[in-house]
Formats: sequence, C-alpha cells, structure tokens
Amino acid sequence: MEVSSSRAAEVGGQQVRRALPQHRRRTVGAWCFADHFGPTAVTGQGGVNVGPHPHLGLHTVTWLVSGELLHRDSLGSEQLIRPGELNLMTAGRGISHAEEATGSFRGDLHGIQLWVAQPEATRHGEPAFEHHASLPAVDLGTGSATVVVGDLGGVASSARRDSELVGAEIQLHGGTTDVPLQAGFEHALVVLEGAVTVEGEELVPGQLGYLDPGTDELGLAASGPARLLLIGGAPFPEPVTMFWNFVGRSREELAGAARGWNADDGRFGTVASPLARIPSPAPWWRQD
Ligand code: MN
Repeated sequence: MEVSSSRAAEVGGQQVRRALPQHRRRTVGAWCFADHFGPTAVTGQGGVNVGPHPHLGLHTVTWLVSGELLHRDSLGSEQLIRPGELNLMTAGRGISHAEEATGSFRGDLHGIQLWVAQPEATRHGEPAFEHHASLPAVDLGTGSATVVVGDLGGVASSARRDSELVGAEIQLHGGTTDVPLQAGFEHALVVLEGAVTVEGEELVPGQLGYLDPGTDELGLAASGPARLLLIGGAPFPEPVTMFWNFVGRSREELAGAARGWNADDGRFGTVASPLARIPSPAPWWRQD
C-alpha cells in the first residue's frame, strides 16, 4: 500500500481533507477527486452552504456518515440526502448545482464527496441526477460493506456508472476482515472513522492508501470500530485534465467552460437556490 497525505482545503466554509487528486496520483480508476469533510457541528447558521456552481465531464458522488444536505440542480432536482443514501449527479456537457444546509438539522455533519471522470463516450452527453435511498450490502463477517456504485463480491449497486469501477463504504467491528476485490482494478482507501491496518501499515483519516491492481482480496485489520471508503476501477485510459469544477481533456476546453459559466451563457442552466452563484476563477495558466 502506498500512503499519501490528503491536502487541507476549504469548500463552502468547511475544512476538507482532499485525498484526490494527489500530485503523483491523479486518478484511481475513473475516480479523480475526493473531499472528506467533518465531522463538524451544525448549529443554526452552520453547515455546508455551497452556492450554484457548474460541473463538466464528471459524476459527483455524495455520501454522508452523519447529517443532512439539500441538493438542488439546474435540472430542477431538489433532494435531501441522509446517511446511507447516494446522490449521483452526472454533469456530461454541463450542469450546475448547489449544496445547502437544511436549516433544521442540528448535529454533526460528516461525509465525503467524490468525482468520477466520464469517458469520452458519455462526457458530451446529457446531464442527469439520481438519488438512491437504499443500497445493497455485503456481509463480511467482522464487518459489512455498502455497495455505493459498481459491484463488490457479486453484489451490485443499481447506480449509474460509465466505466468499470467500484465504490463501497466498509464498516468494521474490529478484528480482521477480508474484502473481495476485482484483480484488474486499482483501488484506494479513505478512512472516515477510526483506523485500519493494511499490509502492516496503519491508515487514518487524512490519508489515501493506494493499492496496485493484481489482488483479488484486501485484508483489513482494525482494533475497534472503523469506517472507510473503498474506491477502485480499471486504470482510466484517457488523459484527464481538471480545472476548478471541470473535468476535460484540454486547457482550451476548460477555459471555455469557465468563460461560459461567468458569462452565464446558458450551457450550465440555472439553479433555484437562495445562495449566491459562485464565479469561476481565471485559469492559472497563460491564455493567448
Ligand atoms: Mn459541486
């Protein structure tokens, strides 16, 4: 296992641990971004509040350990998400959304948001949104796995996926647990709660543990309860370029998306949100 540290970043007033991308590890399968946030106490004014912003060429995967969030998007979707549920938004050629505190929730907000790069075959397609209120589980003996997307041990989620990948939340009660893997996939682990030992190395929140393809079983050891996210997939064959909230293939494409959003040219639609629209920063590279 190759262990690297997440970077501290801030999103919507929340401190996040950005596990992906890493300088030397841009993608794990088609997974290209992972922000672990919380737990932070939500009070009257608190919580995540991310105003309308655009996405391009990716799926967003939102998963909560505790708390509530309200999703609104330019397709007209308005969806409350709670722990154990999946919000899966497909940007395709353009979508915008907002993530809001519900105003009524009090308690800890804790979760992770990930992005999955769409392949060439679908990335120019229609935007879409799915909510999955329940997802299948795999009994692992000393733990269990909730299959968020893809297939784990022959149990498949019905969530959309555009490439060969898996995403699962693993809950460990303590002891050793074996998790079935697809040998053709590369994988990574993000610990959400507790600590887990893999191949003799301890992994804690704030780190990414990467595993090369070639193994069909993952041995996990935990001295107490732990919760982690397993992501994996076939190494993504396309050259992904990212800027701000956009995933594309060239700087020209990404700069064009930023200009389009800032000019409100319509390609990303409109979100009915009380929050202010977030403008795109200027691309950091020189533009001729
Ligand atoms: Mn977003």
